[in-house]
Amino acid sequence: MRSFNYAIAENKQGLAAALEKGYKIKAGGIDLLDMMKERIDKSDRIVSIAQLKDLRGIRERDGGVAIGALTTLRELTENEMLRRKFPALADSIDNAATPQVREVATIGGNILQRPRCWYFRRAEYDCLRKGGQTCFAVNGDNTYHSIYPMGSCHITHPSNIAPAFVAVGAQFVASDGRTSKTYEARDFFVRPSEDVMREHKLPQNEFVTEIFLPKLPDKSAYVEVKEKQSFDWPLAACVATYADTKWNVVLAHVAPIPVRAVAAESLLGDRADIDEALAQQASEAAVADAQPMTQNGFRVHIAKAVVRRALLKACGKDFTA
Ligand SMILES: Cc1cc2nc3c(=O)[nH]c(=O)nc-3n(C[C@H](O)[C@H](O)[C@H](O)COP(=O)(O)OP(=O)(O)OC[C@H]3O[C@@H](n4cnc5c(N)ncnc54)[C@H](O)[C@@H]3O)c2cc1C
Repeated sequence: MRSFNYAIAENKQGLAAALEKGYKIKAGGIDLLDMMKERIDKSDRIVSIAQLKDLRGIRERDGGVAIGALTTLRELTENEMLRRKFPALADSIDNAATPQVREVATIGGNILQRPRCWYFRRAEYDCLRKGGQTCFAVNGDNTYHSIYPMGSCHITHPSNIAPAFVAVGAQFVASDGRTSKTYEARDFFVRPSEDVMREHKLPQNEFVTEIFLPKLPDKSAYVEVKEKQSFDWPLAACVATYADTKWNVVLAHVAPIPVRAVAAESLLGDRADIDEALAQQASEAAVADAQPMTQNGFRVHIAKAVVRRALLKACGKDFTA
């Protein structure tokens, strides 16, 4: 690991000043320090935000829920109100990482974590996302890569929690120390076709302060399929939510961003109750435009299965078949 300058932000203004000088934020540090140890992230200035207590906590506000960016995944899983009113979010967090990681990892860091692509994570591969000329997944091992083409890089977005925020139309609130700005979760994540070097729209001089959920859904469910049931990122996952007589269906780990299955959503229309036949049709619509790579076609079938199961689970039906 290279040596670096380390600062501790004592307030938002101090953090903003550090960001202006090129410091990079450390929240829990789970992803950032991994990236630095692997010499993928070469930052030489790090600022800890752990002391910013007002970035922590879960509050009901204006008919919705505000989650501070520094709230840990463990704190979120222990929140009974969210578990009762937004089970898809609680289930996605229960399934993320390990108890040890969830104790330290923050929700802000989770949505901003870098991709897990094994070529991106290895210093010896100078891939497109690191400024190189090649996406090594195209002719290499692409088992865990995208099944929805969105440009020349084929990562999948690593957060299995972010899709729940996309499904309910959450807002990511950011600050530059002076003013705050709101990013719609649905518009926050960046496709490789827009910019191959970035996964989100947050500029260097801003930090996320909270995630605001304007309204919790009437029904929701999260379903994932993993290769192994102990800690692992899913092969595919789906969040289905029903609110204001509309379904939102969002897939995780199948594309460079959490991807809405718009064709499935329109097919479901305003029907609050979904039966097996409709869930099956919606799942087929969800994967109709999938274009798997050479080794990951099997994940199209898994994506289809998680959509069907999430819809049935959200309606309280047996989804295990
Ligand atoms: C073994 C293991 C298994 C895992 N499994 C899963 C899984 O199944 N699903 C899943 O979703 N994740 C998984 N993860 C990833 C883990 O959840 C993330 O690494 C973690 O949530 C990152 O949070 P952090 O607070 O440690 O972020 P950090 O590492 O501190 O930061 C991550 C990035 O976000 C930036 N950042 C952090 N907070 C802010 C902020 N408030 N404003 C602006 N920028 C900010 C940092 O600068 C950095 O670039 C796993 C990790 C491990 C080690």
